[in-house]
Amino acid sequence: MRWYHGTFTLDGRWVRIPTAKGTSPLWVRLARDVPYPVEQVRSVTLLCEGGRLFLDVTAEVPVAVYPPGEQPDPARVGGVDLGIIHPYAVAGPDGEGLLVSGRAIRAEHRMHLADTKARRRAVARRAPKRGEKGSRRWRQYRRRARLVEGRHRRRVRQAQHEAARSVVSWAVGQRVGVLHVGDPRGVLDLPVGRRHNLRLRQWQIGRLLQVLTDKATLAGITVRLVDERGTSSTCPACRMRVSKPRGRTLSCPHCAFSGHRDLVAAASIATRVPGGGSTTPAAVVLPEVVTHRRAGRHLPGAGRSRRDPRRPAWAARGSVGPRRPAPPPGGESLAQQARIHNTHRKPGER
Ligand SMILES: [Zn+2]
Repeated sequence: MRWYHGTFTLDGRWVRIPTAKGTSPLWVRLARDVPYPVEQVRSVTLLCEGGRLFLDVTAEVPVAVYPPGEQPDPARVGGVDLGIIHPYAVAGPDGEGLLVSGRAIRAEHRMHLADTKARRRAVARRAPKRGEKGSRRWRQYRRRARLVEGRHRRRVRQAQHEAARSVVSWAVGQRVGVLHVGDPRGVLDLPVGRRHNLRLRQWQIGRLLQVLTDKATLAGITVRLVDERGTSSTCPACRMRVSKPRGRTLSCPHCAFSGHRDLVAAASIATRVPGGGSTTPAAVVLPEVVTHRRAGRHLPGAGRSRRDPRRPAWAARGSVGPRRPAPPPGGESLAQQARIHNTHRKPGER
C-alpha cells in the first residue's frame, strides 16, 4: 500500500497513515529514524514481509554539489561492463579501472539454495500435507520460509547497493561525467539451459542497472546505455574477433594482446555511442591501474570456499577433514604424521 505526499504525516518515529473514510488513522511506530529530512519524503509504502512490517520511503534528494574544479566532467567518459563474476567492471578515461567482485553475492545465493534444500529435507516428514492448509503447523512452516526468504533478499540487495556505491565513488574520484553501460539484456532472451538460466536470474541485471543509474544521477553523473555486442569478444588492439575466453583473460591470437576480459569489455563499451551511430570509433583506453572492490563483505559466505561456502575457511584450504584441527602453518598435521608412522609398522602390531 502506498501513500503520497500530503496524505500521510511523519512525526519523528511515528507515521500517521489514513485508512478508510470515517475510521481512525493508523499510527505506525518505526524502529529507526527516517534517513531523510521530513520535507523531502514524497511517498511511503507499507510492506509486510515474513510477518514483519516494513516502511519503504521515497524521498527527493538534491543532486550532489561539488566544489569548483571537482565536479564530474561530461567530457570524461567511463565504460561499465555488467557481469556475474564482477557485477561491475569499469574503465576510466586515463587508463584507470575498477573491478567490483561479486563472489560474496554468489556465495550468498548458493548458501541460500543449499540451506533451503536442507531445511526442506529436514522438515519433509513434518511438512504440512494437503488439506492442512491454514492449520497452525502450516502457518508456522510458511512463516519460517518467508522469514528466511526475506533475509536472503535483503542481504543481496544490500550487497548490490554497496557494489553500485563503490562504482559511483570511484567515478566521482575520477571526475567521470558520463558512464556508458553495456546493455546485455538482449542475452536474457536466449535459451541457455537450466543451470545458466538460474545464474542469469540471480544476476538480476535490471536491478544492477537501476541501482547504478540512481546513485550516479544523484552524484551528477549521466548514465547512457550502449550496445555491448562484441565488446567481450573483440581484440581492442587489432579489432579482430576473438573466441570467447574460458577464463578471465582475453588473449588475442592475431596479435600479442592480452588483458582482463571484463576490463577490456568495459574499455570498448566506453567508446560506443548510445544508439549506435556511425561515428569513427574512439581509441580504446585500456585500464593499467586497477582498483579492486568487493561487494557484500558482511555476508556470512564472504571469503569462504568456492565449493561450499558453509564450510569453515580452514577446511576449504586443504584436504583435512572438517573434524580435525587445522594443520599448523608450515608443518604436517597430526593426522598426516600418524599415517606416516602406520606405514612403518608390521601387520598385526599395535
Ligand atoms: Zn589482436
